[in-house]
Amino acid sequence: MEGVFEKSDKFVMKTYKRFRVAFERGEGVYLYSLDGRRYLDFLAGIAVNTLGHNHEVVVRALGEQAGKLIHVSNLYYIKEQAELAQLLVENSCCDRVFFSNSGAEANETAIKIARKWGNPDRFKILSFNNSFHGRTIATLALTGQRKYQKGFEPFPEGFEYVNFNDFEDFKLKVDRKTVAVFVEFVQGEGGINVADREFIKSVYDYCKENGILFIADEIQTGIGRTGKLFAYEHYGVEPDIITLAKGIASGLPMGATLAKGEVAEALGFGDHGSTFGGNPLVSRVALDVLSFVIKEGLIEHAARVGDYLLKGLREVAKEKDDIVRVDGLGLMVGVEFFDKQRADDVVKKAFENNLLLGKAGEKTVRLEPPLIVEKAHIDMVLEFFRQHI
Ligand code: PLP
Repeated sequence: MEGVFEKSDKFVMKTYKRFRVAFERGEGVYLYSLDGRRYLDFLAGIAVNTLGHNHEVVVRALGEQAGKLIHVSNLYYIKEQAELAQLLVENSCCDRVFFSNSGAEANETAIKIARKWGNPDRFKILSFNNSFHGRTIATLALTGQRKYQKGFEPFPEGFEYVNFNDFEDFKLKVDRKTVAVFVEFVQGEGGINVADREFIKSVYDYCKENGILFIADEIQTGIGRTGKLFAYEHYGVEPDIITLAKGIASGLPMGATLAKGEVAEALGFGDHGSTFGGNPLVSRVALDVLSFVIKEGLIEHAARVGDYLLKGLREVAKEKDDIVRVDGLGLMVGVEFFDKQRADDVVKKAFENNLLLGKAGEKTVRLEPPLIVEKAHIDMVLEFFRQHI
């Protein structure tokens, strides 16, 4: 045990403040630590473990595919990748997919598509304050939070931030150089902030009227998390580009950038690439995960239990003076406290009670369990909030 902490603290770069625990296995919504304790996982690897831990669909896909073929590169046709692309296209408003390995790369791809599409006259990309789009230099430039950018200047030009849920500000920031806007329907890293329906509709209509690309960052909200396969379905819009990662392969690294017809054609041969992107192993796992999520009613389940969680937390909040608001969509829920210290204390207290929660922004405690979570697990979490907060 000691060994893990000491080795990690000594040899791994110090970019993460970690909870003092290491896990050796997982089962469903539970994780088991090396020292034999069981934790209820309401963070799911930061909205990644769609089917929880050790799910038979993932384990089978991994085992079967690893025994056949893991990697070949994109110089050749890949059956699993083609089938996954077809499944994504048939279940979305888009026509083609580019595969990468993370959310940041999925957004980098979207930025490149938008720039190529708008070239040479239009290159400016709008995003929102409190957004989060990744940690590479371009996706940091896209991220509307100064705290992540500090120290990494200079950034590429052509990025500007709009106040979230503020259509007037959006119109003010658009100019003749504007080619695209990146939207998170539920902001997940600057608090849990659900976009207003009216606002999204206004931005979308404006984009359609003015030939501006409407890009949905669904890296966290996609794959059933909000109770629809994609969060855009809640809003009655059809994005030109959708970016995915996190939950798409339930724990294996994959990014995907989906685009509509003519927009998808902006990238031609040699314009973009990824050595690992969409290799047979990850594609096969994502294919089986996505098929399972769609066919087994997990999306409807996420909507149902998510609603139960949100309503339950709102009930609890009525009796607690230090909770500002409870917000969310499906299984993406946040409890905002009056100050940062209080939110930190709640996450720490939960950890001491064998419950894994996370933070979103400074003051918000986030709950994003695997989609297979049951009401009984949610009852345990509500009881924790009732008793300890
Ligand atoms: N976009 C959103 C909305 C995210 O939540 C995240 C990660 O938290 C990213 C992009 C970046 O994804 P990754 O960490 O896989 O690069």
